[in-house]
Amino acid sequence: MTLYRISEVTLTASSTERAYQDILEELCKATAFPIAAILRFDPERDRLVVTAAWGLPTDVARVEMQVHDSLAGVAVRTGQPVAEFNAGARREMANDLLHDLGIQTYLAFPMVVSQEVAGTLIFAHTQAMEPDRRLVRWAESLANGVAQFIDRVTAHEELKESEQGYRRLAEELQQANLELERFAYSVSHDLRAPLRTMQGFAHALIQNFGDRLPGKARDYAQRIIASGQMSEILIRDLLAYSRLSFEDLELQPVALTKVVEAACEQLEGDLKETNTDLAVEGDLPQVLGQTTPLVQVLANLISNAIKFVPVGRRPRIRIRAEENDRWVRLWVQDNGIGIPTGQEDRIFRVFERLTEGGARPGTGIGLAIVRRGMERMSGRAGVEAVKGGEGSAFWLDIPRVEGASKGAWRRKKS
Ligand code: ADP
Repeated sequence: MTLYRISEVTLTASSTERAYQDILEELCKATAFPIAAILRFDPERDRLVVTAAWGLPTDVARVEMQVHDSLAGVAVRTGQPVAEFNAGARREMANDLLHDLGIQTYLAFPMVVSQEVAGTLIFAHTQAMEPDRRLVRWAESLANGVAQFIDRVTAHEELKESEQGYRRLAEELQQANLELERFAYSVSHDLRAPLRTMQGFAHALIQNFGDRLPGKARDYAQRIIASGQMSEILIRDLLAYSRLSFEDLELQPVALTKVVEAACEQLEGDLKETNTDLAVEGDLPQVLGQTTPLVQVLANLISNAIKFVPVGRRPRIRIRAEENDRWVRLWVQDNGIGIPTGQEDRIFRVFERLTEGGARPGTGIGLAIVRRGMERMSGRAGVEAVKGGEGSAFWLDIPRVEGASKGAWRRKKS
């Protein structure tokens, strides 16, 4: 009956302390001992610590005693129950807490978990009395049950503590990251003004004094302007990337046809200049996202598809959508130079480029914007090689809109 009550108590108690108290109360009721306590063994310090007590003054909690000069310690050392019916007379146990409380009858049962003594379960009485043997045997097995419960609770508490620790650490890291991004954002932002001044003066130098400058000096001024422009692009991309991290993005239904239209409009000059053959296959559905970052993400993919083609090849881009019950997958397939196997993840990181400068200038931030933008819109992005052909097929998984209609895409004629 008591074992049943104890398991009930351990399941329903509001806290571990409460559970210990309830267990001890139940045990006292069942054994008619007025005092019971759980002492945990700390092997590193060779001490016993009062973890919970029933029928004793509250200041007993957390009292510690040496294993070697306490009666309870005998149970820990030997792994056997200790029964003392005239404890007050034992002078060598004078340090024992229960001795000070005028205890006469004293039973200490080792609490064994995984063959190790984890502590002792104690029953005590201020009167001398001889408990019956059945009770002693029963209490002995009960002590192990309590030990197992404590073991479980401790493991659970440790797990909870480490979980809380990890969560705290993740939050702190996230906060630190955000602060770092804000810092990067404001530094990038503030770099713009001196950069523009520099470019402005280089322009003025050429305009106002160009005819008086030797050819080499004019060339230097031109280089200042070109480097300034490159820095401006880099800062623009960095700002776009970090803005994506802390901007609030409220997701709403967006028609993918409009997104494709806007991205093509943005890149109109490049598309014309490279005579790119761009087409959308099939209808495009609505998605849950935000127009501006979606256009930015798609424009980056199209711009790369135009840029990374072998010299002399006409860029060909095919856009199509696939749907499953959770996502709309938007494919942007090109006929370009392709991504070497094993590099598919690397190219989505900031400043990672597989080709250096030359005919294909860039900052290495475009695909990082793609990935971050998608993550911020609860989506994801990736790339696959084109099966049995040349080029790459980039994909965006975007949350779908329930019951949304589809729209046919028409390229605006200009
Ligand atoms: P950027 O275009 O400024 O170099 P991105 O982050 O957009 O930076 O792309 C990173 C790298 O991934 C590129 O430098 C290129 O090596 C590779 N890459 C991106 N898109 C393509 C593509 N469509 N085909 C082949 N390689 C690509």
